Amino acid sequence: MEPEELPVDFIQPTSWADALAAKAEAPDALPVAGGTDVMVELNFDVKRPEVLLDLTRITELADWDTDTGAGPGAGPGAGPGAGNGRIRLGAGVTYTRVIGELGSRLPGLAMAARTVGSPQIRNRGTVGGNLGAASPAGDCHPPLLAAGAEIEVASASGTRTIRAEDFYTGVKRNALRPDELIRAILITPPSGPQQFSKIGTRNAMVIAVAAFSLALHPDTRTVGTGIGSAAPTPRRAPDAEQFLAAALDEAGLWESRAPLPDAITREFSRLVAAAARPIDDVRGTAAYRRHALAVLAGRTLAWAWQDYRGQGSAASGKAAG
Ligand SMILES: Cc1cc2nc3c(=O)[nH]c(=O)nc-3n(C[C@H](O)[C@H](O)[C@H](O)COP(=O)(O)OP(=O)(O)OC[C@H]3O[C@@H](n4cnc5c(N)ncnc54)[C@H](O)[C@@H]3O)c2cc1C
Repeated sequence: MEPEELPVDFIQPTSWADALAAKAEAPDALPVAGGTDVMVELNFDVKRPEVLLDLTRITELADWDTDTGAGPGAGPGAGPGAGNGRIRLGAGVTYTRVIGELGSRLPGLAMAARTVGSPQIRNRGTVGGNLGAASPAGDCHPPLLAAGAEIEVASASGTRTIRAEDFYTGVKRNALRPDELIRAILITPPSGPQQFSKIGTRNAMVIAVAAFSLALHPDTRTVGTGIGSAAPTPRRAPDAEQFLAAALDEAGLWESRAPLPDAITREFSRLVAAAARPIDDVRGTAAYRRHALAVLAGRTLAWAWQDYRGQGSAASGKAAG
């Protein structure tokens, strides 16, 4: 028997205000950005929305800017810190644009974007869509967590910002209220190196079995981390962050940029793995995921430290020259 065909309303607002009004009127409306998650869910009958809210005609969602404080994100309720030079990445910016335009300003996110799907998926898929789907395996989440990003969300009654670590509330669940849409992601350009690495069951077109992102913040002498695919939600590894920041401080390594002692890398890796809450599933066992995370943590730290040392030599070379 043919499946019953249900009518679907397709709303295509051309302005942000109209999109928010539509969502206020029909909170069950399912937003569509690139459609690379939504279309799969519709095809497999995972979702049967009565209303689809197409966001692709809202041009401001597909752009990024440096947050000057004067833009739409700085309106009432935009939250503290608006206008401090952060990158304001519209929710509808695709992976291809992140890679092509923001590789040097948002290196962690761009590294993650390079690993997403295929060129077709990267051309359509958006960072906002990854957040909307809130899969524990979504590749944007670890670098957003490590960078301390904030998510700007809005409804017809106002705008608020949510820290990335508070955004993920459960497996494929996020902190959006039914009448809210994701407008932008606010990310401070890094003062130090960022890294991302993921392990999958093959080299491309693969959902992460485990993923990890690391950001060193020499300006504040802090460390950011993000774990993917190894807990019900993407999450940070706060003990590992604090351990590494303190170890670098105590050994004067932020200044000296000397080689990193193995003991520091080992303990950092152990603490990252300990922060995970993995499960056994078809892609890997919990034990493998923990092991993989420790390996990813050690590798990304080695790469980031090499970058940091390189930045130091480049700066002293310039000063001497
Ligand atoms: C073949 C294939 C390979 C893939 N590979 C990867 C991969 O390697 N890594 C990875 O992380 N993902 C992967 N994905 C999943 C998907 O491409 C990403 O999650 C992508 O970021 C989704 O973006 P989108 O714009 O297509 O979202 P959509 O499908 O349009 O939307 C996704 C979800 O977000 C919601 N949404 C979208 N925009 C907004 C908004 N502004 N406000 C509120 N809610 C919103 C939608 O309602 C929906 O629930 C893959 C998918 C496919 C089909």
